[in-house]
Amino acid sequence: MPPSKSDPIAIVGAGVFGLSAALQLSSSGYTNISVYERDTQVPARYSAGHDLNKIVRPEYEDPWYTKLTLQAIQGWKTPLFGPHFHQTGFLHLVSGTAPEKATQTLGRFYSSIRDHPTFQKHLIPINSQKDITDIAWQLNGPLPGWNGYFNRLAGYAHSSNALRAVYEAAAARGVKFFLGDDLGKVTGFVYGAGGQKVTGIRTGNGKVVPAALVIVAVGAAAATLIPDAGSQVVAKSWSIGHVKLTDDETSKLRGIPVTYARDLGFLFEPDPKTNLLKICPMGGGYINTDPADGVSYPPKSLAESDGVLPPGDEARMRRLLREALPEFADRPFVEKKLCWFADTSDSEFIVDYVPGTEGSVVLLSGDSGHLFKMFPIVGGWVGRLVEERKQGVERWRWKGGAKKGKWEGDVSWRLGETREFVDIRSPVCAKL
Ligand SMILES: Cc1cc2nc3c(=O)[nH]c(=O)nc-3n(C[C@H](O)[C@H](O)[C@H](O)COP(=O)(O)OP(=O)(O)OC[C@H]3O[C@@H](n4cnc5c(N)ncnc54)[C@H](O)[C@@H]3O)c2cc1C
Repeated sequence: MPPSKSDPIAIVGAGVFGLSAALQLSSSGYTNISVYERDTQVPARYSAGHDLNKIVRPEYEDPWYTKLTLQAIQGWKTPLFGPHFHQTGFLHLVSGTAPEKATQTLGRFYSSIRDHPTFQKHLIPINSQKDITDIAWQLNGPLPGWNGYFNRLAGYAHSSNALRAVYEAAAARGVKFFLGDDLGKVTGFVYGAGGQKVTGIRTGNGKVVPAALVIVAVGAAAATLIPDAGSQVVAKSWSIGHVKLTDDETSKLRGIPVTYARDLGFLFEPDPKTNLLKICPMGGGYINTDPADGVSYPPKSLAESDGVLPPGDEARMRRLLREALPEFADRPFVEKKLCWFADTSDSEFIVDYVPGTEGSVVLLSGDSGHLFKMFPIVGGWVGRLVEERKQGVERWRWKGGAKKGKWEGDVSWRLGETREFVDIRSPVCAKL
């Protein structure tokens, strides 16, 4: 039986999964929804989505996800999401020195849309520097050997603003939000007589709040609340950095496509409010394994990840700029940080009931670094799971017995080695 429309539902985490679930369930008539978020604000700074922008592109190596993202892109064009979606197009490339793995991945992405009727008039193959500057004259670097394709049916979302919009829409529908360490941080569950069914949550101030259903949507922190999730979800981070531009520079770069050289990293149209141009390097990322149990958790404080930009990442970002936008190649990077997400060994999400809880706990996690683009349709997946009270999509089930640890080599679209956070964090942070 699904919960009754007036039963208390506790959603833990106000990121992409948590906010979409809250909005969807309130739209379906559930009237007693509370969202618990450990940060004092939404968009929450611990959320992997707390960022200027995220790529929204439909091509995937797996055509199943291509179909899904095409639905999501329709959602990005609705009144709630539309102001935050910018269809600048996606230049998807490899540099002239890319490893074979990157070139093959690019080829598989391209194959998923090349013969797809929706994309017929919207794809341009890229084989030369001129092919690129015909699309974006501003990319005036040497672009040596860069090749791939341009997809006009893609772009990016302003991610923090989209999170804020969904938060405000859910609050306007009567969803209650509890924020901060005392009221918003969930520290554990309360169990019924048999010891399996969860009947409530405990917050930072020790208070117990009853719940008929608990939806855990804490991203990279999944194993902090559900220890068994630690064998299937690895807290992993990638770095980001920004270049601060002048008004004129921002204006000049207006409309450039998301530009992604798979072996180096990607950059976005600058944000006109802050004049920040965001860059992400491509790499295997960083995990934070607790030697006591072998599980990777996100660091406890934001301060530990702020300002961190490992030298190898910085070198790839500088090369990306030197080859595409050389006038910024030596400008300092600002607002650098590591951004933590929930990685799984097969890059599939987890949208399922937690076994052994008698249907009282749902886990939404395992975003694997590619969930944001789905924001407009994520709530629908959760709504079906709750309403139908049965397991959802086969590939997003709870993954019993999955392997722990580093699996960068197994994931076709990832390049580079995954390293431990302890090996790259600054000595100052280590003492905090
Ligand atoms: C650098 C980087 C680049 C990315 N680029 C893209 C991209 O281009 N396109 C794309 O589609 N996706 C991208 N992603 C992935 C996307 O950001 C994530 O998939 C998405 O944000 C995950 O959503 P989530 O709801 O699972 O977790 P989150 O958004 O991380 O939210 C989890 C929330 O739970 C809260 N929380 C944690 N513990 C507790 C607790 N005990 N009590 C209460 N609250 C708690 C946190 O504060 C946080 O707000 C990127 C990710 C990273 C790191």
